[in-house]
Amino acid sequence: MKAVVFEKFGETPTIQTVPDPEPALDGVVIKVEATGLCRSDWHGWMGHDDGISLPHVPGHELAGVVVAAGSQVTRWKAGERVTVPFAVGCGHCFECSSGNHQVCEHQSQPGFTAWGSFAEYVAIDHADTNLVRLPDEMEFATAASLGCRFVTSFRAIVDQGRVTPGEWVAVHGCGGVGLSAIMIASAMGANVIAIDLTDEKLAFASKIGAVATINASKTPNVVKAVKQITNGGAHMSMDALGHSSTSFNSIANLRRRGRHVQVGLMLGEHARPQIPMDKVIAFELEIRGSHGMQAYRYQAMMEMIRTGKLKPELLVGKRISLDEAPAALMAMGGFEGIGIGVVTRF
Ligand SMILES: [Zn+2]
Ligand SMILES: [Zn+2]
Repeated sequence: MKAVVFEKFGETPTIQTVPDPEPALDGVVIKVEATGLCRSDWHGWMGHDDGISLPHVPGHELAGVVVAAGSQVTRWKAGERVTVPFAVGCGHCFECSSGNHQVCEHQSQPGFTAWGSFAEYVAIDHADTNLVRLPDEMEFATAASLGCRFVTSFRAIVDQGRVTPGEWVAVHGCGGVGLSAIMIASAMGANVIAIDLTDEKLAFASKIGAVATINASKTPNVVKAVKQITNGGAHMSMDALGHSSTSFNSIANLRRRGRHVQVGLMLGEHARPQIPMDKVIAFELEIRGSHGMQAYRYQAMMEMIRTGKLKPELLVGKRISLDEAPAALMAMGGFEGIGIGVVTRF
């Protein structure tokens, strides 16, 4: 099969012909029809993720068609249209047994712990636990765009952030994660403030539900601005970028008993950020991480998509070919264009 391969961290990936994958006994092989471009792939390529061994095929936001299933798979067969969360749970450990596959002790991650979906085919283990059936009307590009950022934002806003109607929600960073969070939080009835460095992204944030915007490049004190707009601070706030300053602001702009959810990856120089811990205690703030979403929780999100409350297709950005993926991957270290780029031609 054709795949994007890198042999050394930080070196230009190339298109190569590599052996087709075989399904594990409890796994499937999926013909990839669409795969999203994500900053996590850039981190992996840069060598920020210890789970990767070389040579490596990146890609973890995928949708496609099952072409082969192992003998132990009972729920899936060739021809079914599917997607999969980026954290693939083993189905047997304590966390999986308690319903928390997103933090499975033995999780595999396509594109990190195994070869990923920047390829014509990808193997996914533990298929019965992890595959999600796609509604017939959903395009593969939209389904791939859910894989990481949209589902992570759904869990961050709904399950971890516990947003309720009428609350103020601040979203720091309007890349794929941030825009997803804005759409989801406003569908949940919250008043959302979008914060970013570019007016273009903020204008798009307003279109998909933000009621207020802050351009952080023109605002000397973002925390103060959030407090003014919200009359005292946000109830829930999210760092969707993953940077020491956005993480700090997202905690510092909360009102008493507010909830911060960290979704943007904090890697490399940002791995150990400063936290206003004095305020965390005095205000009884909550700080939570959010890491993907369990396959069984897709159902609720898919219903909101089916009824038109959520429109993830609006967040699909440019569509490119696999041949263009190496250059696009290397560019992900900079700021993304609007929406989620997707490889749709292989
Ligand atoms: Zn597990
Ligand atoms: Zn991703």
